[in-house]
Amino acid sequence: DHRIARISSAIRVIPDFPKPGIMFQDITTLLLDPQAFKDTIDLFVERYKGKNISVVAGIEARGFIFGPPIALAIGAKFVPMRKPNKLPGAVISQEYALEYGTDKIEMHVGAVQAGERALVIDDLIATGGTLCAAINLLERVEVDVVECACVIELPELKGRDRLGDKPLFVLVSAA
Ligand code: 5GP
Repeated sequence: DHRIARISSAIRVIPDFPKPGIMFQDITTLLLDPQAFKDTIDLFVERYKGKNISVVAGIEARGFIFGPPIALAIGAKFVPMRKPNKLPGAVISQEYALEYGTDKIEMHVGAVQAGERALVIDDLIATGGTLCAAINLLERVEVDVVECACVIELPELKGRDRLGDKPLFVLVSAA
């Protein structure tokens, strides 16, 4: 697809952010190119429209950029999956391991119903820990996670393997 090349070249790489040795994939430059941003959303919408998905679950923070336009276009609700202590109502939370220590994501109780079909969206998959936590959280409340989608995959970190047989769709592979 000719759109992928434009998307890929609109993503900026910032060396040594947030710490030395990390090559940070910066999607804010993709957002500065309206055609590339639209193509990004369109590619996801083309894949997911008509698939009976009622929930788009977006992971804080950059899943909040890509998730809502996809949700609107496919007629699904948008559910934010947030960092701890951000959501004001009652939450269910899921802890997950980081390189050092643990982190947590949270979702409002009652945001989704058992039996709903969900797409989980984030900007990037690295180790896959964040997406796994989101899948676990949704599956604990009996939501069917149909697929995970990201703009960028870092294949060297093998996050895809960590998702097991859960399908992952990505637009750009950052080698
Ligand atoms: P994982 O849990 O797969 O190891 O890390 C993925 C999470 O970290 C995502 O929420 C993603 O936004 C963030 N992340 C890690 N590295 C990068 C990066 O290079 N660029 C961006 N934009 N996000 C990153």
